[in-house]
Amino acid sequence: MHDPQMTPQPGAAGSRSRRVPFVVANWKMHLTRGPAERLARDLIRALAEVRGVEVAICPPATALDVVGRVLQGSPLLLGAQTMHEETHGAFTGEISAPMLLDLGCRCVILGHSERRQWYGETDDALARKVRSAISHKLLPIICVGERLVEREAGQTDALVTMQVEAAVSGVGEHPDVSLVVAYEPVWAIGTGHTATGEEANRVAALIRWVVASRCGAAAGNALRVLYGGSVKPDNIHEFVRQPEIDGALVGGASLDAGAFAAIVRAAAERGA
Ligand code: PEP
Repeated sequence: MHDPQMTPQPGAAGSRSRRVPFVVANWKMHLTRGPAERLARDLIRALAEVRGVEVAICPPATALDVVGRVLQGSPLLLGAQTMHEETHGAFTGEISAPMLLDLGCRCVILGHSERRQWYGETDDALARKVRSAISHKLLPIICVGERLVEREAGQTDALVTMQVEAAVSGVGEHPDVSLVVAYEPVWAIGTGHTATGEEANRVAALIRWVVASRCGAAAGNALRVLYGGSVKPDNIHEFVRQPEIDGALVGGASLDAGAFAAIVRAAAERGA
């Protein structure tokens, strides 16, 4: 495997009060290039006046180029929905960190539950991807979260701890590293059900503690923890008012410029 140099990344750092809220749009496998370009333009317009929040748009791979061109010169970051851990090679259908950088990506969603469920992505592969993303100065947005059966069995904390430990296992003690972890209960994704703000906050605190214990206190303090799972304009306040939650990973509602802009505004108010 490529031997990455674990170099520091741009992004949020510092004390809890200085963590910049972060909202990520995951467009999943939606939108061909034309509609993707239009939505990106609508979002730039809708968010023109919003300050104090970082926003990333993660279109499908086929629209990264066109959306990246629209986002150029705007504060919105371009992100990908997955990547391979190797830089190049015989991996049909895969996309590497250098390819994403070439398209202007600044961040990448890794370990989304849909990748774990449908494409067999393992914690080991996720750890390699996280390491590769960091070494290429792509901000990793690491997704963790329990399935309904694990929640009902009271295994949420153990499962999330294991997922986070595995994901950052290749990072090591690293005071300058920028990481984002999205707590996404699988049973809440695309279902209209959500965790309560208190539940999500408790798991977010656990995630921060695990990162601090594995990567050091500074990394834990700078870590931004997002909540994901059926976030909408009418429930976002419940999450962003929680002290351990620094923003949201948004699927369905990110396909509507008005709804997504309302979510971003709510996160910005939390940061103000
Ligand atoms: C997601 O895709 O990560 C997600 C949280 O989706 P939704 O907002 O549609 O539940």
